[in-house]
Amino acid sequence: MQKLAPDFDFLFNNLNKIAYIFTDPVHFGPVNQRMADFCDRKISELEGESVAEILNQKKVESVKKFNQNIFKEGLRKSAKMEIEINNQLYTIEVDTIPHHNQAGKVDYLLCLAEDITAELEKEKRFYRNKKRYSSIFKKAPLAFVVSDRETNIIDWNEKAEEIFGWKKEEVINRNFNLIVAEDSYSEITEVIENVFEGQKSYNVNKNIAKDGSELYCEWNTALIKDKNDKILEIISIAQDISEKIESEKRIQNQKEELKYSELRTQFFANISHELKTPLNLIFSSLQLLEYKIKNTEFEQKNNFDKYLGSIRNNGFRLLRLVNNLIDITKIDVNTFQLHRANFDIIELIKSVVESSRDYLEAKSRNFRFETNLDSEVIACDPFNIERVILNLISNAVKFTEEGDEILLRIEKEDGWIKISLRDTGIGIKKENQDIIFEQFRQVDQNFNKKREGSGIGLSLVKSIVEMHGGKITLDSIYGMYSRFNVYLPAETIDEKTLTAESYSADSLLDKVELEFSDINYI
Ligand code: ADP
Repeated sequence: MQKLAPDFDFLFNNLNKIAYIFTDPVHFGPVNQRMADFCDRKISELEGESVAEILNQKKVESVKKFNQNIFKEGLRKSAKMEIEINNQLYTIEVDTIPHHNQAGKVDYLLCLAEDITAELEKEKRFYRNKKRYSSIFKKAPLAFVVSDRETNIIDWNEKAEEIFGWKKEEVINRNFNLIVAEDSYSEITEVIENVFEGQKSYNVNKNIAKDGSELYCEWNTALIKDKNDKILEIISIAQDISEKIESEKRIQNQKEELKYSELRTQFFANISHELKTPLNLIFSSLQLLEYKIKNTEFEQKNNFDKYLGSIRNNGFRLLRLVNNLIDITKIDVNTFQLHRANFDIIELIKSVVESSRDYLEAKSRNFRFETNLDSEVIACDPFNIERVILNLISNAVKFTEEGDEILLRIEKEDGWIKISLRDTGIGIKKENQDIIFEQFRQVDQNFNKKREGSGIGLSLVKSIVEMHGGKITLDSIYGMYSRFNVYLPAETIDEKTLTAESYSADSLLDKVELEFSDINYI
């Protein structure tokens, strides 16, 4: 074994490096405590032993070769080596220094080694992190804009290219303001100042793309500083929220639209009321005038009758329109209410028929009423059922010619009271048979005769029938006939029973006049 001078021994053992000596290419000479600790052995277990004690065969061979070379060439060499100790892999960096004896031959090798495993791991991690972050930077779904202290752009990712339309090469060294809408310059300056002062870094900005289009972005800005707190870069991350802002605007518009439509409905209900008031005044003055004329022995009072009749009828037409408008508005906003009670529907319809007979005769329509039922008490709103029937009769007159037939029939069918009104008029084309029940829908069937109407009647009729739990159907052959079938459930309700007496039919004649006001002068 190599003999060492005592001061060398001292140095050797107090070195803060792993130190050992090779007396030949594979055998250890003295090893220091650090070496023993590193190998998890005692000094005595290594000194004088072969390197095979701690290395596998393959490694032994490569160490041997390496050392043989140094013994031969006498040159100091450094190398990195992996060693497995207790199943764990370590990397050491070994500085191998040849010792030359007086004869100039290499007689032993001093090896100074350092465990660089942790350092290497750190390096690897750093590299991995760098790779990870650069791929995040590149592929992030957010725009990354990196600028220097003077806010000149120094880097920019793919999303930024997509949002702002500029290629990375085009923006490098240009000021950040390149992508800021002019009216937002001062805002941006303020944000940057705030960020420098360590304040909030979030803001929404109006930006501008390469093609001049404006967009809204949500920005988060942060400073990248070095160890000494010196600002190196400003990193700004943006998300294009133009669509979000657009949809918020849309929602806002919809809300306003809804509010407006509520206002419109309200206004409509009010104005309808306003329209009715003067109408009532017309009617009361008319009544007064009629009374006075009746008691006047004026020879030409018949002339007055004609004008009075026209005023009266047009008053009714207006009133009917206003009533219908009010009702469909109420139906639209769900405030239309039926007042249902148990009522004899046969009796009700008979009185409608009686009240309209004069009109129908005056119009030279061949009107018939048929039923094999004497009495059928069902739950219904008599006032509104009258409107339904009068509406259908008025349409039947409107779309027939003198001499045409109008047949009203009531029958009972599978738990329904079926009221059908058939006319031999112009009929309704197949493609129009559904739409005539829609609000404001009138169908132009190329008839030269202009017919009055608002297109509200059938939609109101349908709603009223459906609110009764019933349905309305239509069968028609264009040019031949139309038949409207109203089905009402043949059932009663528990609460009230309205009798013919308790229901006032007094105003029915007025109602007939009202409902027929469209056809009075055709
Ligand atoms: P209007 O007030 O215009 O009569 P309606 O809702 O009552 O409105 O009717 C809608 C349309 O249905 C009418 O314009 C007409 O084209 C058609 N229609 C209704 N009843 C008949 C009928 N008996 N014969 C032919 N067409 C009809």
